[in-house]
Amino acid sequence: MKYAIDMHLTDTPREKPTDESKLGFGRIFTDHMFLMDYSRKDGWTNGRIVPFGPLPIHPASTVFHYGAEIFEGMKAYRLKDGSVQLFRPLENVRRMNNSARRMCLPVLDEEGALEIIKTVVRVDQDWVPHQVGTSLYIRPFMFGNDPHLGVHAVENAVFCVIMSPVGAYYAEGINPVKIAIETEDVRAVRGGTGEAKCGGNYAASLRAGEKAEKEGFTQVLWLDGVERKYIEEVGSMNVMFKIAGKIVTPKLTGSVLPGITRKSCIQLLRDWGYEVEERLVSAEELFNAAKDGTLEEAWGTGTAAVVSPIGELYMDGREFTVCGNKIGPVTQKLYDELTGIQWGLKEDKYNWTCKL
Ligand SMILES: *Cc1c(COP(=O)(O)O)cnc(C)c1O
Repeated sequence: MKYAIDMHLTDTPREKPTDESKLGFGRIFTDHMFLMDYSRKDGWTNGRIVPFGPLPIHPASTVFHYGAEIFEGMKAYRLKDGSVQLFRPLENVRRMNNSARRMCLPVLDEEGALEIIKTVVRVDQDWVPHQVGTSLYIRPFMFGNDPHLGVHAVENAVFCVIMSPVGAYYAEGINPVKIAIETEDVRAVRGGTGEAKCGGNYAASLRAGEKAEKEGFTQVLWLDGVERKYIEEVGSMNVMFKIAGKIVTPKLTGSVLPGITRKSCIQLLRDWGYEVEERLVSAEELFNAAKDGTLEEAWGTGTAAVVSPIGELYMDGREFTVCGNKIGPVTQKLYDELTGIQWGLKEDKYNWTCKL
């Protein structure tokens, strides 16, 4: 099903950034954005592409008081021939619908939502940067927008897509990060909203992130919220370990976000002949593996960084170095393969990419 899209394009397009090495992340936005309204009575209506700018929102809107908000994160990549492609965009649409169901927000037709994303990127495709490693970050999001304070499943919502040209994540080379296992705060619990991509999960994780940063760490490694024993994610990335030749990653218990990079890595690794175990991984197992030398590599996975090698691990006064604090061969191979497919430099035998 296609959604009708009214076009209200700007008469005053802005200068595009000339120095693509200074883009950073999510600070500059393109000329346009997509908006569409939902009401229980009329469904999705008024799909429109409008000049990028502030949204008028009622002060009683559900999103401000009860946190009804979900989002996605994906990228558009500029190829050598000048064309633009997306990476597994239908996976993002499906995950957004799963997040919507968890938060009592309305779902979108899959094909229709994909067409919206392609259309709005097409309108601003000149904003997709060209320099190696740069991309256009696409942020679809949805929020409950009932203009009253009663607590109930939302009756009105807004779906929005904004876009931001972003710099190369590893402009200074891939440097392993220093990680602290968080033993106080938890990010999510089974039955909670951990498997939904919602703003509230992020709000709840900021304190531990702040604390870790103050103590000289880059990210926190989250433990499960019930037993406080099992590894779940690293910062806002999924996490994988190579232990004695096998790849081990926390299974999707309900409190882990089902990452698309995670899913893609698992498929690549299995096709390369690695055994990949999706199971519970305790912090204790990790430290024992680090101690006896079988923890060969550790890395996070996510759209922004693709992979992020973990060089140092810390918990309760114990500290370990992983892979000599260098990126390991499997981590590097995953990075090369995925970025190769995303920027059209390697064969895409899985049909993961999608031209605009
Ligand atoms: C988005 C996200 C990820 C990574 O998902 P990708 O689809 O690989 O980008 C992992 N963990 C959390 C908490 C996230 O929000």
